[in-house]
Amino acid sequence: MHGKIRQIVTCVLLLMALAPAAAQATAVPDNPTVRIGLYFGDGALPSANLENSTGSGYRFGYFDADRDFHQLGTTDDTQITMLKNKNMYLSGGAYSETPSPSAVAVGCYHIQLPGSYATYAGARTAANARSGAFPVWISGAYSVRVGAYTSKEAAQAAQAALNLSGSTIAGPGDDVVTVANTRTGEVLFQFDGGSSAALAIQPGLDDAVKTTTWFKGYRYYGAFQYRRLDGGNLTVVNFVLLEDYIKGILPYEMGSSWPLEALKAQAVCARTYTVMNLGKHDTYGFDLCNTTDCQVYHGVNGANSNSDRAVEETKGVYVWYHGELAQTFYFSCDGGGTESCGNVWNEDIPYLKGVSDPYEASVSSKISQYHWTVTYTASELKSILQKNSCACADIVNFYVSQRTDTGNVYSIAFEDSNGKTYTFSKQQVRNLLGLRSARYEIGGGNSGYYVDGMGTKLDTVSGLYAINGSGNTAVIGEAPYVVTGTGESQILTPGASGKDTYTVSGSGWGHLIGMSQWGAYAMASQGKTYDQILTFYFTGITIQ
Ligand SMILES: [Zn+2]
Repeated sequence: MHGKIRQIVTCVLLLMALAPAAAQATAVPDNPTVRIGLYFGDGALPSANLENSTGSGYRFGYFDADRDFHQLGTTDDTQITMLKNKNMYLSGGAYSETPSPSAVAVGCYHIQLPGSYATYAGARTAANARSGAFPVWISGAYSVRVGAYTSKEAAQAAQAALNLSGSTIAGPGDDVVTVANTRTGEVLFQFDGGSSAALAIQPGLDDAVKTTTWFKGYRYYGAFQYRRLDGGNLTVVNFVLLEDYIKGILPYEMGSSWPLEALKAQAVCARTYTVMNLGKHDTYGFDLCNTTDCQVYHGVNGANSNSDRAVEETKGVYVWYHGELAQTFYFSCDGGGTESCGNVWNEDIPYLKGVSDPYEASVSSKISQYHWTVTYTASELKSILQKNSCACADIVNFYVSQRTDTGNVYSIAFEDSNGKTYTFSKQQVRNLLGLRSARYEIGGGNSGYYVDGMGTKLDTVSGLYAINGSGNTAVIGEAPYVVTGTGESQILTPGASGKDTYTVSGSGWGHLIGMSQWGAYAMASQGKTYDQILTFYFTGITIQ
């Protein structure tokens, strides 16, 4: 046995000797612009307000494929609303699609004057000469439109009354977005980039001022983009510098008052995760969304000097593995041990390796539902299995059939009254029953072990010791054998209690892969630094 281990160690050393001395780190652009989806899919908005917080006024334009902003025009107004080009109605300071008698209508039919202009200034000057006129940018050229009517007939009547010869009527366009003054409904600008370019708004007219802008109750750094996917509502995307984006994550993924070193570890994880997942939501036209699906983010509202400091002191720092950026997954708390990626998802990743966590439990009193318990009746389990396409009979046993090296559940088994066993493994051990983590024991039911003739029952053999004839003791494994009085050995099987209720008692919350956020809190509270936290949870990584 020892010889074999030595042999393996020799091979590993040989491989290390053959590997290049230092792998070349992949370059990451310095503080790149990232695209974060704020409203999209079913949540896309018919209209979206902006209000200057720091900085004043707005620039209209679009972002190119390199994420560089191209300015088309400006306004001094401090409150503007982007509207899809449908009939919209302003009432009580809010825009809606529902007409009401007292509302100001911002219709989607316009009189388009003949001629075009090479510059915004040219179109703006022409528009200023006529009441209700505004510049429109149509895929590279400026024109002037007049009015915002709710029907073609109304636009035609106005066209005749104003005697605008050579003009045409522009109806609603699938890609068109209107910019209006929030309070008055006055149209300031219209943008029609076809399917290739989307309207972007860069707040502030002074490059020297770092802007923050109110949007739906939160303040954001950076700019905003409004794309109408399939002619629908506005998909709202925040174009923001990576380091400013990370400042908006920490308050929501941890808490701005958490220990500094824990926040720094979170900042490095979030920064690395972001760059590794750029383009994740390309179908919507952005990189990452602002929910737990990616990383929770609501701009600068929750940030303070402590959380901002964690970002600034780790600026441009990432987690690397052999010269490549690492996948820095994280989760709330591990309950005592993290898990190897390959034991939960399909792929094994060398630095995402389960570790026993001696730190986290020290802060368990701060964690809501650190220990949790769920009970199921046998009939509830049967119903859950049947919903998952198992044609099972009555469940007579439910137990953990395999654990991982760090003590988490790798597979669970259900036995039915026909003697058939249904086994689930990896992420199913958590997802099948919707459990908070894969770190649990199953008690009650038939799953105990009877250790004497008096009915003494243990829910698990985990933690028990066996003793051999020489007096040596060892921890019992997951499938212990027992020896009968006649010398036959057989696997120790659970006894029957006839109970109908199973209790799942666990700890931790999350997928358990990568960094435990509460574990980071505990380590930081014990004086560990952010790089010590990261190298504990990610095996064999470098931080730079
Ligand atoms: Zn997402």
